[in-house]
Amino acid sequence: MLHKKLKMKSIYLDYHATTPVLTEAIEAMAPYWQTHFGNPSSNHEWGWKAEGAVLKAKKQVAAFIDCDPQQVYFTSGATESIHWAIIGWLRQHPQGKILTSTTEHKATFGACEWASELGARVVKIPVNQEGIIQLEVVKKELQENVPTLLSLIHANNEIGTINPILEIAALKETYPHLDIHLDACQSLGKLEFSFLNSQVDFLSFSAHKIYGPKGIGALIIRDTKKLTPLFSGGGQQNSLRAGTLNVPLIVALGVCADWFKKNWLEEAQRLKKLSQKLIAGVKTISPKIKLNGSENQRLPHNINMTLYDIHPDKIILALAGVGFSSGSACASTQAEMSHVLEAIGVHYEDAKSTVRFGLGLQTKDEDIDFILEKIKGLYLQQTSLCESQP
Ligand code: PLP
Repeated sequence: MLHKKLKMKSIYLDYHATTPVLTEAIEAMAPYWQTHFGNPSSNHEWGWKAEGAVLKAKKQVAAFIDCDPQQVYFTSGATESIHWAIIGWLRQHPQGKILTSTTEHKATFGACEWASELGARVVKIPVNQEGIIQLEVVKKELQENVPTLLSLIHANNEIGTINPILEIAALKETYPHLDIHLDACQSLGKLEFSFLNSQVDFLSFSAHKIYGPKGIGALIIRDTKKLTPLFSGGGQQNSLRAGTLNVPLIVALGVCADWFKKNWLEEAQRLKKLSQKLIAGVKTISPKIKLNGSENQRLPHNINMTLYDIHPDKIILALAGVGFSSGSACASTQAEMSHVLEAIGVHYEDAKSTVRFGLGLQTKDEDIDFILEKIKGLYLQQTSLCESQP
């Protein structure tokens, strides 16, 4: 037969973009579509059942993040939470200044653009070559004694670099006019973190990065007097975030939070071993492979590297069947250079040969062997090409 069907290996390594939903979460939310479909604001049996489920999920999220259940406000996800934190804070502090970094997720840049349109001064703080925010520049900006919000990504979604949030939050002792919003989308469930002990004022995250459904997340708020609502209407969630609660998705998020509270450390350690194997493996293949970001201060499941001298088309061909990203998932449909790689000094042409792997629950040892074999093949091909040239 001429057209023999090729059996291609299929490996998902894009867990920064999104994750599959835990079976436990799907099962837990199922009755809330038809059987327990009530509106949690309704004052009858159906409403009380739904309200009880929301309260339980709030407690599960609070136990996971280590905050008070009353500090948990459900949103449609991190993009909404980030906008609420930044714009809600600005409306409460109209003379305020906003600091952020050059390597934020575009959701933060979007909210900052809106803040600028509302008249706020927004300053993007540079990062060092590893992608860590430059603290000295933050301190310089804080010399000005005006209410200031620092909106910072905890761990970067492209290069996995972890910002030293406890050290940064400690600045509040010297600069009491500083409030902090943390984008914890990528770090929750991967790093040890306690909201209560962190001095962070607001924290944003999405459920779909921790094996929950898309379209649900939360903003954790330490002091509700520090921000105004973005939506008003039905008075839900203490009149701070109006809109009927999406009970099934909230139930699922609660289950994921519970799962992560129990299992995060073991899973993070397993992922770290796998990513270290990949990083060590590529080092033996060619010195032309460079890890982007920080060697030590990085998410346990992130590998971002530039395959110098390898044409991007060859990478795509070699890794056919592998779900990976050549930048941030949100930016990969655009041909523009990743702002994160640009901020850490990767050149435009090299950025095209840069790959991001995000490991997760279904990643196995043999997947890493497969990737290493493919990358080895690319460099062997490259060497034989060079040798055959006159
Ligand atoms: N912040 C970070 C660090 C992210 O990785 C993402 C999603 O990729 C977001 C914010 C936005 O999350 P969502 O699209 O779920 O609103």
